Amino acid sequence: MEYEELVMLCICDYAGQVRGKGFPVSELDGRLRTGMGLAPTNLMINAFGEIGDSPWGPRGELLMLPDPATEVKIDFDGARPTERFFLADLTALDGTPWHCCPRHWLARGLEALEREFGLILKVAFEHEFHYSGAAARLGDAYLLDAMRLQGNFAQNLVGALRANGIMPDTFLPEYGPGQFEVTCKPALGMAAADDAVRLREIARAVARFHGHKATFSPIMAVGAVGNGVHVHFSLQDRDGTPLSYDETAPHGIGEGAGHFVEGILAEMPALTALTAPSLVSYERLQPHRWSATYNNLGDRDREAGIRLCPITRLPGSDPAASFNFEYRAADAAANPYMVLGALVWAGLKGLRDKPRLREPTLGDPDDMTAAERERLGLIHLPQSLSEALSLLAQNEAMGQAMGAEFRAAYLMHKRSEIDFLEDYSPEARIARYADAY
Ligand code: GLU
Ligand code: MG
Repeated sequence: MEYEELVMLCICDYAGQVRGKGFPVSELDGRLRTGMGLAPTNLMINAFGEIGDSPWGPRGELLMLPDPATEVKIDFDGARPTERFFLADLTALDGTPWHCCPRHWLARGLEALEREFGLILKVAFEHEFHYSGAAARLGDAYLLDAMRLQGNFAQNLVGALRANGIMPDTFLPEYGPGQFEVTCKPALGMAAADDAVRLREIARAVARFHGHKATFSPIMAVGAVGNGVHVHFSLQDRDGTPLSYDETAPHGIGEGAGHFVEGILAEMPALTALTAPSLVSYERLQPHRWSATYNNLGDRDREAGIRLCPITRLPGSDPAASFNFEYRAADAAANPYMVLGALVWAGLKGLRDKPRLREPTLGDPDDMTAAERERLGLIHLPQSLSEALSLLAQNEAMGQAMGAEFRAAYLMHKRSEIDFLEDYSPEARIARYADAY
């Protein structure tokens, strides 16, 4: 049988889905230069493959211009076609940036962070997901035997990540039945978001190879623990000197890092529209699920909106290098460029306005009096996607950062997702998302 290898050129859209177009591998050099055309409305395809309303309708044309650094190549030893794809920016036909492109939004934020403050963001994404090939049993959490039951998916995944330049850090059986977690070493700025997109697709590809599915939906059953995406971040200068830590400051938090983190916490209720953007994300952001329910800073607290991560004090350890914060109100229904974009733009506002960093909470905000929560600046995170979208629609910082057209398009996209699932029961919604992600 004749056979020709294909390469896919892809974007990560507003639904966080990776979609694109293929071409013969013989045209790769040309396509890396000239890209491929795409209708702006392609970005409006919702998680379930439908287009609701669109500001652009059937009109207009954009270019997908690939970034060669984002190449993914997975070799299945001839058992199935080599998978090869690139991620792209969406630009105008002359290659100038398009202001509704999620990747460009993050690029602009990172550029401002470096230009105005000389700061580079160092990021590690932590992904939780379900693997259908693991014979899931209750009680498998962290169990050595759960690693045997998953076969060699984990080993193939870690190998494929490394082969694609994504440095694996850990892999573990998580708390839920069939739930796993994979973490990678930190990367700088855009590379971290690219790697989050690439990692999810590599996990999906490896699972398909085994005849199974890796599911990154925020939650798999009503009342269950969710699949979180935790974003670890810290700041450094252009030379790589870590700047988040100050051993003389309260909790070790350096002044600039404090402003950056306070900027995020202040906007966090509205940011959830970008970082936890599905209807079922709010089934995950519930009390006592080890996710997040308030915009609090918590010292080593796994239910905080932002967790101040522990640093080891073993001989030879370098606290400044490992000191980092963890944003916990994110999941994989979100586009990683928009998650990081939200953090960077809100953090930038903090750096510019220099607000005082709130005190870390010591206990559960729900156990505090309303007056105490107010004193600490604590606001309950939204409890539904529509509540989150209303906050984003009114949020001044994100309005400025995103610009009117981008924000309106994103809100329209997400509202059509709500309409699409209106008549579904909670269980049917969860099933639909599990199928989609
Ligand atoms: N599964 C939890 C979540 O939804 C996180 C558990 C953990 O702390 O790793 O975010
Ligand atoms: Mg975890």
